[in-house]
Amino acid sequence: MIPYGRQSIDDQDVAAVVEVLHGDWLTQGPAVEAFEAALCDITEAPFAVAFANGTAALHAAAAAAGLGAGDRVAVPALTFSATAACARYVGASIDLVDIDPMTLCIDLGRVPIEADAVIAVHYAGLPTDLGRLARRPRIVIEDACHALGASTPDGPVGNCARSDMCCFSFHPVKPITTAEGGAVTTADPALAERLRRFRNHGIERRPDIAGWYYEVVDVGFNYRLPDVLAALGRSQLRRLADFIAARNRLAERYRDLLAGSPVELPPSAPLGSRHGYHLFAVQVDRRAEVYESLRQAGIAAQVHYVPIHHHPTYRALGLDDADLANTDRAYDRLLSIPLHPGLTEAEQDRVVAALLAAT
Ligand SMILES: *Cc1c(COP(=O)(O)O)cnc(C)c1O
Repeated sequence: MIPYGRQSIDDQDVAAVVEVLHGDWLTQGPAVEAFEAALCDITEAPFAVAFANGTAALHAAAAAAGLGAGDRVAVPALTFSATAACARYVGASIDLVDIDPMTLCIDLGRVPIEADAVIAVHYAGLPTDLGRLARRPRIVIEDACHALGASTPDGPVGNCARSDMCCFSFHPVKPITTAEGGAVTTADPALAERLRRFRNHGIERRPDIAGWYYEVVDVGFNYRLPDVLAALGRSQLRRLADFIAARNRLAERYRDLLAGSPVELPPSAPLGSRHGYHLFAVQVDRRAEVYESLRQAGIAAQVHYVPIHHHPTYRALGLDDADLANTDRAYDRLLSIPLHPGLTEAEQDRVVAALLAAT
């Protein structure tokens, strides 16, 4: 099977992990600090806080922002469930916002004026232009789980030029991997402090009282990233630019090979922005049949995503889904075809042939 996404691990990545395994620290320690510093270099963010996974990073961002009961969090209807779950973890309510069909990202012009926060997803790695927010809510969080390595005229995604915090995932299909892992970047030192505390049980060390003394000042979690995995992440960051270049090259090749076919191509990045191409999500008629034909041809396409308002746990909330027509229209036709740095042109040709035969 040709997978829709896959990690790329080289000998240097393996050596970096083995070195930590032979060292003194396995769980959070110096390799996490080095990984966070490397993330700051790449995103140009003043602070980066690593987490056990991207979902934990989103949860921490919602908590550090002080969101809770009575707050309204606007999230796009077309996203992975974790984007919405983080609002529920802290007891906030959710406003589902339709996508802009031109970008497949949240339609920022439709974020309710009453929203206390918005979580913008850079769908497929195409950075959302946060400058299009009609009115800035109290809190702006980026779900950049698709978009490490992407950039806008404001700079690299993650620099928080127009947001309070930016969340990343390092799951194997994402731009770089730590197996499981995530991070939040921010320019606000107080938020960085709250994020670190939330990651570690809400503990504050009090050496002013005694060397061993600590206080739990908030209910936190154990959301730490192990050093073993941080070493992999830091090693992977060396290759981020190459990964993104390979994804862009393969995406352009798909565009050439599929031009003039019934396959609708995904939006490309506007001038001055760099697409991360986490996904190459085309749109096709009779999507279920096309999906099956691809599987029969040994190609594991995927659908991103079953919209939030279709899931039973969100349906039970009675969310207003009257006005999510663009999301539903896209969902009927979306299909992510294979795109990852290790995809060969021969594999890509096979995908194109199967897709053209099926559409
Ligand atoms: C992958 C992903 C997450 C969750 O990340 P995990 O590391 O798998 O917990 C959240 N939001 C989006 C948009 C994602 O793609």
